[in-house]
Amino acid sequence: MKFRDMKYTRFNLDEVVKYVEDMTQKINSAQSGEEVIALIYDIDSFKRELSTNHNLVHIRYTINTNDEFYEKEREYYDENMPIVSTKMVEISKALYNSKFREDVIKEFGKHLFTQLESEIILNEDVIDLLQKQNELTTKYDKKIANSDIHFRGEVYTLTQMSPYLQNKDRESRKEAYKAVNKFFADNQDFFDNLYDELVKVRHEMAVRLGFENYTQLQYKLLMRSDYNHIDVAKYREKVLENLTPLAVELRKRQAKRLGLDELKFYDRALLFKDGNSDPKGDYNFIIENAKKMYGELSPETGEFFNFMVDNELLDLVAKPGKASGGYCTTLDKYGAPFIFSNFNGTRGDIDVITHEAGHAFQAYTSRNMKISNYIWPTYESAEIHSMSMEFLTWPWMELFFEDDADKYRFSALQSSICFIPYGVTIDHFQHFVYENPTATPEERRKKYHEIELMYDPDKNYDDDFLNNGGYWFRQGHVFSMPFYYIDYTLAQVCAFQYLVKSLEDSKKAFEDYLTLCKAGGSESFFKLVEIGKIKNPMTTEVLKEITPKLLEKLDELEEKLV
Ligand code: ZN
Repeated sequence: MKFRDMKYTRFNLDEVVKYVEDMTQKINSAQSGEEVIALIYDIDSFKRELSTNHNLVHIRYTINTNDEFYEKEREYYDENMPIVSTKMVEISKALYNSKFREDVIKEFGKHLFTQLESEIILNEDVIDLLQKQNELTTKYDKKIANSDIHFRGEVYTLTQMSPYLQNKDRESRKEAYKAVNKFFADNQDFFDNLYDELVKVRHEMAVRLGFENYTQLQYKLLMRSDYNHIDVAKYREKVLENLTPLAVELRKRQAKRLGLDELKFYDRALLFKDGNSDPKGDYNFIIENAKKMYGELSPETGEFFNFMVDNELLDLVAKPGKASGGYCTTLDKYGAPFIFSNFNGTRGDIDVITHEAGHAFQAYTSRNMKISNYIWPTYESAEIHSMSMEFLTWPWMELFFEDDADKYRFSALQSSICFIPYGVTIDHFQHFVYENPTATPEERRKKYHEIELMYDPDKNYDDDFLNNGGYWFRQGHVFSMPFYYIDYTLAQVCAFQYLVKSLEDSKKAFEDYLTLCKAGGSESFFKLVEIGKIKNPMTTEVLKEITPKLLEKLDELEEKLV
């Protein structure tokens, strides 16, 4: 079904409540495992219907945040979904405590109970806080979507500024950078206060649910069943040891390439003196070539990408009123993924067509899972599919960049390496925030700057606002998806392994990747890493092992370029 033909219907709260109570009672009084299993299937179609409608609202609203109809619907969901999701906990509890547990495991596997364990945490005591949290994060999204950045007589949104931030001309680049910083500096109180409120709401939620702090609660809600915050801290150490020095070294080389004595923060986005590699065509050019690429990569990816195009499941071009960023989500009732992004003519457009398409491809290969719970894995696993696709499609980059393909490969690899220290910075910062919920906004910003200099010691902002620790204001995850950031860095280390593998044997690398995609969300992170035949970034020394290999590849590419 084409996206435009998908009909949206708002759920009726009374009906949902009645359904949940009815199902809970049926699970509790079931006489056999078979009966419980049949109920699980029934509940699953109900959940697919509900989440499809919710996602239709989300997609249509983010495509146009000024659409009054979907704005109202979004408010309806912001207000009522907390009631629905805490009500649904009754079903999860009944299933979790069912005496037919063994039968259920036989049908669906053990992982369902890991998921249930995290689903039963929330309850109606925190509905008001969940509602408040939704209201605050929506406020953040709106502010960013309507960011008014004044640059050279025009007004731009944050996303639209991206090409100017990597301009070949240093003065223009600096001017664009200052304009963006000014927007955040002018709104410092807005972001500080909004975040302060969010932190307090979240801490209160944790306390009401019997946790020491929000870190403990959110790890549970994110279904991190294999590791805890101490393991994450140890992993950050590995990054500090192996990748921080490498990133510093790469930026020294970058400065030399650009002919600069000192690489300022606003120089970082420019990798080459004669400009970055931009795709050699517009939207239609990119889509046509992506079709060709996915057709050649494998029969599975070919079928998938045609499905996306034929059913209009892509909204990729930037326009006023559109929310920033890019994402992939699913419409489970139709077994359809959806990709949203803001093309702006930079190499980021190709990252979308590989990264978000990697998510979508995995969701597509997992669409026939027995239950929708198993379509998406936890975030650190989900990002493996997307980040690895960025590398597995390397052989086709000539289609988009022509002679500049190696330039693209080089930039992609350098940026991915340099990204990880930033990723752990965002993570480390959030651990500080939620372990110190009474810290003031000033203390938070001071701490942020301290942490970022630890992982990124050569950071040279040349800007008062950023030196005061305000960079994270632009990192939406900090506001909307707490603790979802370390996931990107863990997945990046996994994706590097697929890159190294594919350089040796591309067929085998894709095969292992496909096996991982097909496992969807049926297992936890550590298990999925095993299924995908890669090493665990947290429990092994793989970071140390692959660092020299990545550097070797970079050297090889740079030699061809300079
Ligand atoms: Zn992603």
